[in-house]
Amino acid sequence: EEKKSLNFIEQIIEEDLQNGYKKEELKFRFPPEPNGYLHIGHASSINLNFGLGLRYNAPVNLRFDDTNPIKEEQEFVDAIKRDVEWLGFKWEKECYASDYFQQLYDWAVEMIKNGDAYVDSQASAKIAEQKGTPTQAGVASPYRERSIEENLSLFEAMKNGETEEGKHVLRAKIDMASGNMLMRDPIMYRTLHKPHHRTHNDWKIYPMYDWAHGESDFIESISHSFCTLEFLPHRELYNWFVNKVSQPQEFQPKQREFARRNLSHTVVSKRKLAQLVEKKVVESWDDPRMPTISGLRRRGYTANSIRKFADSIGVGKRENVIDMSHLEFCAREDLNKTAIRVMGVLNPLKVIITNYEEGKEEWLDAENNPEDETAGSREIPLSREIYIEQEDFKEEANRKFFRLTLGKEVRLKNAYIIKGESVVKDDDGNIVEVHCTYDPKSKSGSGTEESKRKVKGTLHWVSIPHAVKAEVRLYDRLFTVESPDADKEKDFLEFVNPNSLETITGYVEPSLKNATALQHFQFQRIGYFCADQSTSVEKPVFNRTVTLRDSWSK
Ligand code: ATP
Ligand code: MG
Ligand code: MG
Repeated sequence: EEKKSLNFIEQIIEEDLQNGYKKEELKFRFPPEPNGYLHIGHASSINLNFGLGLRYNAPVNLRFDDTNPIKEEQEFVDAIKRDVEWLGFKWEKECYASDYFQQLYDWAVEMIKNGDAYVDSQASAKIAEQKGTPTQAGVASPYRERSIEENLSLFEAMKNGETEEGKHVLRAKIDMASGNMLMRDPIMYRTLHKPHHRTHNDWKIYPMYDWAHGESDFIESISHSFCTLEFLPHRELYNWFVNKVSQPQEFQPKQREFARRNLSHTVVSKRKLAQLVEKKVVESWDDPRMPTISGLRRRGYTANSIRKFADSIGVGKRENVIDMSHLEFCAREDLNKTAIRVMGVLNPLKVIITNYEEGKEEWLDAENNPEDETAGSREIPLSREIYIEQEDFKEEANRKFFRLTLGKEVRLKNAYIIKGESVVKDDDGNIVEVHCTYDPKSKSGSGTEESKRKVKGTLHWVSIPHAVKAEVRLYDRLFTVESPDADKEKDFLEFVNPNSLETITGYVEPSLKNATALQHFQFQRIGYFCADQSTSVEKPVFNRTVTLRDSWSK
């Protein structure tokens, strides 16, 4: 493996190791909220945390941050586990913030007893108003000095569901004049009489993120809790809460921040992706147009290409937008090494090889992958009538047209050299057939003089009687602009590309009848394709992962 200089996250850990941390103390976590499917932004965080685990031989927990029952579901938990596993990472423990609800509650009671928390009974708008502004101190709630006894009994009533939803909250008693607005008596608990996907009806109060997150890290002895930059101002509160529940000598987790990674021509936010699903802009979370891990998988991205992508963009301190073409580049690079080369014609034009015996068929040898000697070969059928791409023929063409034209020769991949002789047109003047002759001595790989003859172009083709009809889904970018959610005045849905999916019927070589779900192919001269999960012998379906070349940069 190539030697790279340490990124700033690795530098933090190296410094900690030099300053007394033991290697055995290193422990990380990846903490998704199960309110949607993982997307390509999460891949960066997964790659960072699990990558550190591998680098330092340290455990990494998969922690579900499931503190908001309104948006969280078991379906999302299952999808997240599937995706992390598929990316090739192994977690030490599967953890849930909801497993800590009792411990968090007990700690909150302790805090009330120590005068560090109180029940506020004002409306949330009032509480927000009293927060003040960064340059002006907030106003203390009239309930801030409630007696410990009253706080305890109210908090218990909240927990038991005996108080009206939204009537009270529990707040940490910190500093209403703090320069950090998050320290102005943040809310720790809200009442919510909603069932939770794991704890069902056990709880009527739910902890807020800031209260639950650091404590979860502390419970699991996480050494470094990496989160995205917007949490930088939360760090002070994170430490304040951990200090409240730990002993002075105890090992405390530390939060450090890195920049979010965004991808062009899409949105990376579960909330926005959920809207695309709800509004039926796409079919599902794993629609191949989605930037979700599951969508990319169905589109034909390999786990390897996604990890390579995350590695190559690395971690940074400034938020940026990575161009989609870079992700596509990573897919091509990986698929080039692994995908079997096959032939399929998407816009068919009939070619009759007039000097090829009627009724004859022959099976020709085709190499599966020139990049991989172990991939072997297979046989493909040739007959008198074949399809080529419409764009591979022109009746009249200039010298730069290296495909089929009248009077010139091209090679049929893995087969013979043919020469254009004449065309048949319909009443409207459209070419419906091209008649060619072939040179029987020019068979690829036969070693004859004729087979070595230089011709300018090589075309892909399929034998018509053997061709298999397939549904082919051609995907384009989901949004027409680079950053659909950059303009806060506009709804990102306004920028949806109405032509992000084109479904056509293609004709593919017969071996593709037996393609299995998610198998990768290179349709030669066209692009990389992946058999959809719905593919079958009766109805093969292929999704275009990416075209062969980057048609966007031209
Ligand atoms: P979303 O807005 O999509 O829900 P989130 O940050 O709220 O994103 P979480 O489920 O809380 O989603 O994220 C789990 C982890 O992944 C967090 O540590 C988060 O910071 C990180 N993460 C999420 N999106 C990105 C991104 N675009 N780039 C890098 N890390 C990300
Ligand atoms: Mg979050
Ligand atoms: Mg979120």
